[in-house]
Amino acid sequence: MDSWTIETNSPEQTQALAESLGRLLGPSTVVLLSGDLGAGKTCFTQGLGRGLDVPEDESVVSPSYTLMNQYQGRICLYHFDLYRLSHPEDLLDLGFDEYLCGDGVTVVEWADRFSDLGLEGIRVHLEHGEGDRRLIHFSVEGKASLPVLESFRRQWSAEGEVHDRI
Ligand code: ADP
Ligand code: MG
Repeated sequence: MDSWTIETNSPEQTQALAESLGRLLGPSTVVLLSGDLGAGKTCFTQGLGRGLDVPEDESVVSPSYTLMNQYQGRICLYHFDLYRLSHPEDLLDLGFDEYLCGDGVTVVEWADRFSDLGLEGIRVHLEHGEGDRRLIHFSVEGKASLPVLESFRRQWSAEGEVHDRI
């Protein structure tokens, strides 16, 4: 499995997709989000939050200014956004490494900004289409997340939604 793609046509569809992925995730999972501004990274994270049973009144918002927001669901959701980060060292000072292998799910927006970090996990690349259309590409970095992404893929291919990338 290299990369496979699901198309969504509304924010609600993107959230529903992410919610079903979130339901499959366990501790020490990392989700690496990339894509242009407005592609839907935060929207996807909101769906993941639902899948992790973050209460609806704790709305998942962009952590652009705070670098990280934390939400308590069935396991913790640590939501990072590297958009405004200029020095990766600041991230390490925050204890980033411990979050990655900790008791919760770590989601990183703009995960591709610092390739030196060598981040591993489920990679989700969101691509803007016409209007509300988004192409959402899934792949893995490293082997640890392969099983969970395989079961997610099986779930969606059963529903006929998966387009393999050529
Ligand atoms: P990012 O975090 O990547 O900058 P956001 O999630 O904050 O992007 O914003 C995505 C915007 O695009 C939202 O205003 C959302 O309502 C809109 N949108 C329209 N169609 C979709 C879709 N199919 N999936 C996700 N977001 C969508
Ligand atoms: Mg965002």
